[in-house]
Amino acid sequence: MIRLLDETTVLVIAAGEVVERPLSVVKELVENALDAGATRVTVSVSQGGLATIEVSDDGTGIAPNELRLAFARHATSKLGVASDLERIATLGFRGEGLASIAAVARVRLISRTSENEVGYAVEAHGSDVSDPEAVAAPIGTRVVVNDLFANVPVRREYVRAPAAEFARISAFLAMLSLGYPSVAFSLSHDGRAAFVFAPGTALEERLAHVFGPAQSRALLALDVGAPAAEAVRVRGYVSTPGIDRADRRMQLLFVNGRLLRSTLVAGAWSAGYATFALANRQAFGVLFVDLPPDHVDPNVHPTKSDVRLRYPETVHDAVRRAIAATLARDASGRMRTALSFAPPGRTAEGEQTMPAFSWQTAAPNGHAASPGAEAEREPRGSGLRVLAQLDATYLLATDGEALVLVDQHAAHERIAFEAIAQRARAGTPAQEPLLLPYTIELDASDAARFEASRAALMAAGLDAEPFGERTYRIVATPAGYGARAFDLRGYLADLGDEIAGLDARERVWASLACHSVVRAGDALEPAEMSALLERLVRCENPMHCPHGRPTIVRIEPGDIARMFKRV
Ligand code: ADP
Ligand code: MG
Repeated sequence: MIRLLDETTVLVIAAGEVVERPLSVVKELVENALDAGATRVTVSVSQGGLATIEVSDDGTGIAPNELRLAFARHATSKLGVASDLERIATLGFRGEGLASIAAVARVRLISRTSENEVGYAVEAHGSDVSDPEAVAAPIGTRVVVNDLFANVPVRREYVRAPAAEFARISAFLAMLSLGYPSVAFSLSHDGRAAFVFAPGTALEERLAHVFGPAQSRALLALDVGAPAAEAVRVRGYVSTPGIDRADRRMQLLFVNGRLLRSTLVAGAWSAGYATFALANRQAFGVLFVDLPPDHVDPNVHPTKSDVRLRYPETVHDAVRRAIAATLARDASGRMRTALSFAPPGRTAEGEQTMPAFSWQTAAPNGHAASPGAEAEREPRGSGLRVLAQLDATYLLATDGEALVLVDQHAAHERIAFEAIAQRARAGTPAQEPLLLPYTIELDASDAARFEASRAALMAAGLDAEPFGERTYRIVATPAGYGARAFDLRGYLADLGDEIAGLDARERVWASLACHSVVRAGDALEPAEMSALLERLVRCENPMHCPHGRPTIVRIEPGDIARMFKRV
């Protein structure tokens, strides 16, 4: 028998979409406070929110004659007509937050606007809302939620232990506070303060709370470029390469003030981190993406935790570029530190014969400055001296102060990767025509891999003609192999897809680079060692190989002093 459900059941079902656990209540109430222009939001919960959740703000308040309406479903002051949905500038807009909470808990709401000398309180439970009654109250709104899910035993069961529920609330509120630095936030649990963030203070304290003190010191402020023509603005902080995590959980994202999860932006994040990342490691940080309201549709998810973007590629690109540019700037900065030269005055006469480095660093636009311009700025006669090759694997060098260790394979890989990528992108691959072309027959899986990477390989200088089924005639190879033969089979065997963040073409080039360079165990001539160092410092991202491993390690005099127990 088909029946219409009674009103209470309908309410509880609808509330299920919005109020999943105590955190959902906190989220709805805090969003309301922020929408009301609060400068102070105070949250206190007991028993993980299952006993009480209380949220107070100093926002505009609700007029007494609207108090009851606020609890009706689809009652909102934030939307007028349907077309307003196309440019939502508030966190709430569906008018179902308060109604949903009242459907699954007992709610007392006290509110006072600046026009009134006193506040008014209403009690709401299910679809019953009491008449407002005058009470003493400061301007703003206070909502007290008791007995959450008392009438929905199934939900109550599903909710975890109070400590776990509180941890969710605490993490959420601290993260949200990053998007509202001018608002004070405080949180307490069972009467004990969890955190108090003063308004308008530097973001550092909040970042340290969210990411942990050590991790937050690794955060780099994003370079804020001029907003693109499409009016995308990207601000925020990203972790410096080398300090990262196994998962993406700490890649926080705000789009127009809304804390979200977005696979699109996660992809952009990886693309920007690309050559800086170790395989399977993720950067962390927080991004604030600001767009015109009509470029974002937040009305696609029941808890509003994802949005639909009108121009996803534009946003993807803006995020990727902001991250890549910031990390490139940082890498060249750290390269300077890693290879910081002795001040000119301290350079001894006899050392003028040291290999002189012509410095090239990434200019703010990401392109290398011309060597000539750089040479003028950089004092001459400073240099890094190669001392030895260790274990046929590492170069040992010094700037007169610190010891510098370079992994010869990782360093050469970085150099080769950037050279290949740059020439391939410019359409001018370095190619070596073979005097004696040869044919090679591949097995089915190698042939498939080869076909998949062929365009990128051709762009990098390989010229191979199909010569019967699964047989190819190699006419030219990428230049730079010198005496080393280009080993197509070995290359294909290694061509994995496990390099985090590189696109398909870049992966091919990274594998190519890996196969065209000196290996650990190759003995190098002194001139080769100097050339390697010189070319490494000219790279855009000299500190890591394309797979993300470090190329350079610097051992400071202080480190050495500690080894000798001088300090
Ligand atoms: P929504 O936020 O989607 O509008 P809610 O059910 O959460 O729906 O709130 C209904 C209305 O109640 C809001 O549109 C707003 O006018 C008012 N309101 C709720 N909370 C507050 C608050 N803390 N301060 C001022 N007004 C509020
Ligand atoms: Mg709301």
